[in-house]
Amino acid sequence: MTVALAESVAPPAVAFERIELVGLSREEIARALVAADVGVAEGKNANMRAAQIWRWIYVQGVNGEDVFASMTNLSLPLRAALEQRFAVSRAKIATQQISVDGTCKWLLEMNDGALVECVYIPEKSRGTLCISSQVGCTLNCRFCHTGTQRLARNLTAAEIVGQILVARDYLGEWPTPTFERRLSNIVLMGMGEPLYNFDAVKQAVNIATDGEGLGISKRRVTLSTAGIAPAIPKAGEEMGTSLAISLHATNNKLRDELVPINKKYPIETLLEACRNYPGLSNARRITFEYVLLDGVNDSPDEAKELLRLLKNIPSKINLIPFNPWPGAPYKRSSDSAIKRFAAILQRAGYASPVRTPRGEDIMAACGQLKSTTLPIRRSQQ
Ligand code: SAH
Repeated sequence: MTVALAESVAPPAVAFERIELVGLSREEIARALVAADVGVAEGKNANMRAAQIWRWIYVQGVNGEDVFASMTNLSLPLRAALEQRFAVSRAKIATQQISVDGTCKWLLEMNDGALVECVYIPEKSRGTLCISSQVGCTLNCRFCHTGTQRLARNLTAAEIVGQILVARDYLGEWPTPTFERRLSNIVLMGMGEPLYNFDAVKQAVNIATDGEGLGISKRRVTLSTAGIAPAIPKAGEEMGTSLAISLHATNNKLRDELVPINKKYPIETLLEACRNYPGLSNARRITFEYVLLDGVNDSPDEAKELLRLLKNIPSKINLIPFNPWPGAPYKRSSDSAIKRFAAILQRAGYASPVRTPRGEDIMAACGQLKSTTLPIRRSQQ
């Protein structure tokens, strides 16, 4: 009886869909506060409240059910009103795997059930988070595991930023430290082609690099692209991150096969776009990634051709020993071929160019990400 009575007099349950604040710019938060009619006036008041909330989310790392209750510099009535209308949440961790080398891979489930992977790689002097920009990918690079998964959709800015928040939760790195961060670098090298999701990636980069929040310097954010040439100078102007190019071949015939987007934007076009990357200098070089495939692209002649191609571009070279995955049509180059290739680059002044594979035991290394785990399990259940 009591229960029925209580129900009949209780106010209606939350009448609005709650608006997610993660992923919004400060200005968007301010506008949302005004529009939600929670007693925040347009202008200075809204900007100030937005800045406070921003700090709670990105400096203090608050989230979850009682998130607004912890925002102690807001009045109690405002906190209560915000609770009704807004949310600050995290993607659900579907699985977490930790490698023997400390690398940690998460499979994250988005609100609609879409799954993406995200990898944290600890090193002595830094910690790098590799984040995804799309669910799946359209590019079909022949050596890449993600390429075997069709594109499901782009990630939203909230979902891209959300990956950083999950990693910071895991590291317990709240409030955002000024020095000696365990999460110091971000690479957009997970699933997807970031330049095919330009606006959301740009918004996420702006949030991640905001000095009053997560505070990661733009130079410590690296956007990796398979070579969407027309978007490259634009990315430099509008995002200003470090840039990495997945080159992988030194002639168009082979690159057409390995990275099919090359048919649209061939090597010359791609390198021309790179030369036009704003702010390029010897202090700010472009990283060229080159996956070493046994007997395919690992000959000394190709190393020399690579040097010739990159001659007038301030560049670093990152050799990536191929990371195998089930059914992959390639093998990793032999140690001697890798050494020989690297030595040619080193003699030309490129320092330590071989990337050590990390997290191989949990399929977390470059190009091994694919997010089929949960749907398969679900259908089996
Ligand atoms: N679409 C973007 C970002 C994702 S891939 C891009 O192509 O740059 C991140 C890096 O891992 C790319 O250089 C990619 O070519 C490389 N990669 C993909 N599959 C790999 C594999 N199996 N072994 C080693 N590197 C791989």
